[in-house]
Amino acid sequence: MSGTGKVFLVGAGPGDPGLVTVRARELISSADVLVYDYLVHPDLIEGCRPDCELIYVGKKAGFHARPQDEIEQVLVEKARAGKQVVRLKGGDPFVFGRGGEEARTLARDGIAFEIVPGVTAALAAGAYAGIPLTQRNTSSSLLFVTGHEDPAKHELQVDWRQLGALKNTTLAIYMGMGRLADIMRELQEGGMSPDTPAAVVQWASLGRQRSVTSTVSNLARRVLDAKLAAPAIILVGDVVRDHESVDWFERLPLFGRRVAITRHRDGNSELRTKLEALGADVLELPVIRVVPDVDKQVLFEVFAELGSYDWLVFTSPNGVRIFFDEFFRIYDEIRNLGLLRIASVGEATSREIRKHRLKVECQPETATGEALAEALIATGSLDNAKVIVVTGNLNRELLVQKLEGAQAIVDRLPLYRTEKLSLERDPVAADFRQRGADAILFASSSAVDAFANQAKHLVLEPQARRPIAGSIGPLTSATMKERGVPVDFVAESPGIDALVAALVRKLS
Ligand code: SAH
Repeated sequence: MSGTGKVFLVGAGPGDPGLVTVRARELISSADVLVYDYLVHPDLIEGCRPDCELIYVGKKAGFHARPQDEIEQVLVEKARAGKQVVRLKGGDPFVFGRGGEEARTLARDGIAFEIVPGVTAALAAGAYAGIPLTQRNTSSSLLFVTGHEDPAKHELQVDWRQLGALKNTTLAIYMGMGRLADIMRELQEGGMSPDTPAAVVQWASLGRQRSVTSTVSNLARRVLDAKLAAPAIILVGDVVRDHESVDWFERLPLFGRRVAITRHRDGNSELRTKLEALGADVLELPVIRVVPDVDKQVLFEVFAELGSYDWLVFTSPNGVRIFFDEFFRIYDEIRNLGLLRIASVGEATSREIRKHRLKVECQPETATGEALAEALIATGSLDNAKVIVVTGNLNRELLVQKLEGAQAIVDRLPLYRTEKLSLERDPVAADFRQRGADAILFASSSAVDAFANQAKHLVLEPQARRPIAGSIGPLTSATMKERGVPVDFVAESPGIDALVAALVRKLS
């Protein structure tokens, strides 16, 4: 009866989606059902198949969306129905994640399962706050301990006084923010010196990370002043001293800065990646969603004659993804693509192409359709050449016209459409309204339009930070002015790198 269903208990890492394992990504991308909670980064969830069933079982401190036994029941039922179920948990599933209970239930009910470890929060807190968790001369052991104790729940009591007597040990305390002052007091009562360095790292590894370093006697007060709260790791021990010198993340030029962008055509925008690499906390407003929408008729005509084309032109990473999904549905090897040459609008698109070990022979310096047309024309190969342009429903008219102007024979291959999403109920938009941002960046005219069309859902509350607005270039600035968005700064030359550089200059 149980079919071939299986449950994967998978660690999602501490926050930054780059810190998830390759195995986790693989499993997410093939799952039938994804069960996840609130510490899991939305980018990871986006990696699932469009038809994957998403089940949110979020738990915030003091707010349980679903009781544990119900979660376990969901896992069992879905597996019994023959599904591949991925249960994604923040950090590591076996470190204060109740993964043990879930595994036990699965074993008891005869469900096949697998466990995939993840980077647990304490490791991320150490790495991203520049606090080595062990150190040859000062700390020879590392203790993961929970600060969350509820006598009513008959949980094991932690003897903090005993821990306070340990020497040469680093304590990494999970879920301890609610009892921080008590814990620090009890450690000192157990014999720990009041001068022992201690730190709190909130939202480790994310752009919104904040930390406070102090001593066990002062930490609680400092944390209160700084208004830090869960989720956070408390680190106690001499190693915390290294924060001063080893700190690298919090020194990045955009660390602590909130930067809003609109999510444009691609799920994972290049702009976002670049901002995050500089430490920014990026709010990506999802104004557009890409939906595969393949014109089968055209697709089959193009595929039937692949050998006759000279150029295959991609204008977005989504186009590449959907093209090859369709391609491999029909052909089982890449050689059926024939000898055509491949052109790409920009780096993010090229990256997707190279995943198939295919070479990109033409890519313009700035990622616009117009620049792509010019780069293709510059190859001198378009006269009478047959060209496929993979598009969405958004205009690529300029590109096609220019190619045709250079005597190319162009076939458009529409594979997807972009849908407008409303920000009315979107959590990122709610966060933007409440807290605002330091800056908002527009990387295209359509991003400005998308933003302006949603303006009524983006009205800042009185206490929110007012962002300055940056533009990628003159065309975008013109649209901003037209739509009543003031332009505070413009990239020196149109391009993502220049836009980010302008932001860094402006904010520093
Ligand atoms: N299984 C998880 C822990 C879940 S318990 C893991 O291995 O990391 C939840 C606690 O984890 C939070 O209260 C907090 O103490 C810690 N935590 C999770 N993500 C965190 C983050 N990004 N930064 C700091 N602490 C985090």
